[in-house]
Amino acid sequence: MPKFVYDFTEGNKDLKDLLGGKGANLAEMTNLGLPVPPGFTITAEACRHYLEHGTLPDGLEDEVNRHLTALEGAMGKRLGQSDDPLLVSVRSGAKFSMPGMMETVLNIGLNDESVHGLAAQAGDERFAWDSYRRLIQMFGKTVLGIDGDLFEDAIEAAKDARGTKDDVDLRAEDFESLVDRFKGIVRDQAGREFPTDPREQMDLAVRAVFDSWNAPRAILYRRQERIPVDLGTAVNICSMVFGNLGMDSGTGVAFTRDPATGQQGIYGDYLQNAQGEDVVAGIRNTVPLTELEKIDKGSYDRLLAIMETLENHYRDMCDIEFTIERGKLWMLQTRVGKRTAAAAFRIACQLLDQGLIDLDEATRRVTGDQLAQLMFPRFAARVDGVKKLTRGMNASPGAAVGKAVFTTARAVELSGRGEDVILVRRETNPDDLAGMVAAKGVLTSRGGKTSHAAVVARGMGKTCVCGAEELDVDVKAGRFTAPGGVTVNEGDVVSIDGSSGDVYLGEVPVEDSPVVRYFEGELSLEDGDELVTAVDRVMEHADASAALRVRANADNAEDSARARRFGAQGIGLCRTEHMFLGDRRQLVEKLILAEDADERQAALDALEPLQKQDFEGIFEAMDGLPVTIRLIDPPLHEFLPDITELSVKVALAGDGADRKDRKLLEAVNRLHEQNPMLGLRGVRLGLVIPGLFSMQVRAIAEAAAARRLAGGDPRPEIMIPLVGAVQELEAVREESRAILDEVRERTGVDVPALIGTMIELPRAALTAGQIAEAAEFFSFGTNDLTQTTWGFSRDDVEAAFFSRYLELGIFGVSPFETLDRDGVGRLVRIAAEEGRKARPGIKLGICGEHGGDPDSVHFCHEVGLDYVSCSPFRIPVARLEAGRAAI
Ligand code: PEP
Ligand code: MG
Repeated sequence: MPKFVYDFTEGNKDLKDLLGGKGANLAEMTNLGLPVPPGFTITAEACRHYLEHGTLPDGLEDEVNRHLTALEGAMGKRLGQSDDPLLVSVRSGAKFSMPGMMETVLNIGLNDESVHGLAAQAGDERFAWDSYRRLIQMFGKTVLGIDGDLFEDAIEAAKDARGTKDDVDLRAEDFESLVDRFKGIVRDQAGREFPTDPREQMDLAVRAVFDSWNAPRAILYRRQERIPVDLGTAVNICSMVFGNLGMDSGTGVAFTRDPATGQQGIYGDYLQNAQGEDVVAGIRNTVPLTELEKIDKGSYDRLLAIMETLENHYRDMCDIEFTIERGKLWMLQTRVGKRTAAAAFRIACQLLDQGLIDLDEATRRVTGDQLAQLMFPRFAARVDGVKKLTRGMNASPGAAVGKAVFTTARAVELSGRGEDVILVRRETNPDDLAGMVAAKGVLTSRGGKTSHAAVVARGMGKTCVCGAEELDVDVKAGRFTAPGGVTVNEGDVVSIDGSSGDVYLGEVPVEDSPVVRYFEGELSLEDGDELVTAVDRVMEHADASAALRVRANADNAEDSARARRFGAQGIGLCRTEHMFLGDRRQLVEKLILAEDADERQAALDALEPLQKQDFEGIFEAMDGLPVTIRLIDPPLHEFLPDITELSVKVALAGDGADRKDRKLLEAVNRLHEQNPMLGLRGVRLGLVIPGLFSMQVRAIAEAAAARRLAGGDPRPEIMIPLVGAVQELEAVREESRAILDEVRERTGVDVPALIGTMIELPRAALTAGQIAEAAEFFSFGTNDLTQTTWGFSRDDVEAAFFSRYLELGIFGVSPFETLDRDGVGRLVRIAAEEGRKARPGIKLGICGEHGGDPDSVHFCHEVGLDYVSCSPFRIPVARLEAGRAAI
């Protein structure tokens, strides 16, 4: 039988799968000899069993009994013992941190008798009754599902009766009455008495933690963070220590470095005379951790020493939750801390310089997603004509502009209409998650850098300014007021700067990030920007380590040049149909409407020089590097007017309708397809419309010859789209070779060009061995390959039902975003293998959107492709991930 319960002395930091992050790290700290209150962890495996079968696994109860007895022995008191109760906390702790997403119940073990024992032991009646009411409140909300506002309202009423606004003024008898009141709420709402048996309290809390894995907000958070749905959570049962035993007690959160910038120093928040969740919830305003030195120097010094131990032990920035109980410091949690993207790069290089990690490890410590975040624009340094309202805390960087909204519902509603919004709250709580996802940025008036808003926003890479205390936020009225009496109503545009904490009324212009300016060559290493230097060091190592090359999807000279500045090693996909848009659409229309060969040829002749010109520009920008040009792909109707609009126009004109319009309508009707994506497109067009592909191949060959004559080094690769059978490719290849020969003879310039194909249909993948006989390279078009493998219309299904599929866990992320390894990936593997077998050394790449997605880049590395190709802006991301995949 598996072991379901681990004492803190039994685990270690590498057992996160089993013990969750919190449990594994509590065990690690215990084994490091740090002051952790004793306790034990119930494994995530027990949770998975419970979620699957609805019952606890056999043997769990016995194991819990044994560990509880041992804990009671160690503490010298029994759970809920009436004269001196052992109290425990029950906390969730999954493998991946999900801040505030799941449940915690503190003070388990209190009841009508043991509350007196606690009062006597602590010498503090008020504390004991306050602890008891907290238990009923948390238990009621978490375990029994009672609306938390009912408890809050009762507290407000007690404060009103006392004529105060602050909890601190409530006395022991007020809390004693609240306990009675809370029990009444439980009776009314849950239809049962609050359980007074401590063991029943604990067992019910454990089940509630298990159940909280599937709470809607936890599901939403997992989807957002791409955390697998089936991990389950561990549960930590830990003896209680109290930060609310007077002014010599307190609770706090600390970081070993600034999570926003990576700077070394003392970062964190402390709250005197407070318990557990008060800090993270942002309920009361905290003081900076440095103040603790004045409040309790002994604990402060111990904390600093522990922080150093932890950072050296984990070789990384850690965050910590601690409690001081009457001058004694206790560690309640640590983990490798979440950090902003900029801090991730800086910290990696700082630890490298400190000799704690090597370059491989530094490169592993940063991600393509983080690099992508650093490439977001930020506010222009100087802001004229916009009013600065206040400065809050720079909780999560970036620049966000949008209409102020005050509720999650409005945030979701307006963003659903395509509007940019900033969610403004006094403080956020886990129920605001949907609003935070929908908003461009989050602004709160309360709470520190460790408040819910700050932690969650950082995790999402969303801009956040928190604790802007000068703002008076009135959620009900839908407005906030700023110093100087400025009122900002819902719908007014505000701009927030997550890097400085500044809040502006109006729209602030944004500018490129320094990292982008560095890639663009506008900023150099000599300028001394620490972040740019860190990015450069990591990128250099990634490039040196990578097996994959990175090319760009670009179809004009400008994008190609930018891609090259960003480090592209060629073009992997030039979509030539993009060159048929704008003014040229009319020429394509002529081609489609041509009534005889002469008319068709005339249209092609008009298009050819334009195409040639485009290719010359691209070859020049990518001189010396391969340029894969894909012949025209999409269905022709995309170049014609909309069928409904044109029908109405012709119908309204009646007999007077233009002859051209009638002809056009005829053609539109003729070309109309029920399933255009599965219709007349790609290679099929080339085989059906004489001269179309030849014109394109001629333009490519002529452009290459011209570039060569001008002293350049063009490296064209001609790619045929949507091939499903080798015969299709053979026909086009023959035609193309003939054209290449003809141009070579005419110009006297020999520019070799590879001819290859996209693999974007399951049949192509399955017959890749045959196709490779006729193809000099394969490029996986995973957009179409995903579409045709799943039978999902790439243009429709994401909006139609993907959210339901994600909810049901059918997939964890859209297969159009991250390559589906099991299905689409299998086809890619088969094709790569059979292609190589038939033509050893065949060049293999990918040019679907997945080419710029970190996880998919790792897949491509595993399969051994030669390159990935992605949009110019994603190139640094793909380079970094290509390096990380190889390390
Ligand atoms: C693809 O299908 O993956 C591809 C790159 O081609 P397109 O997106 O142009 O269909
Ligand atoms: Mg395609």
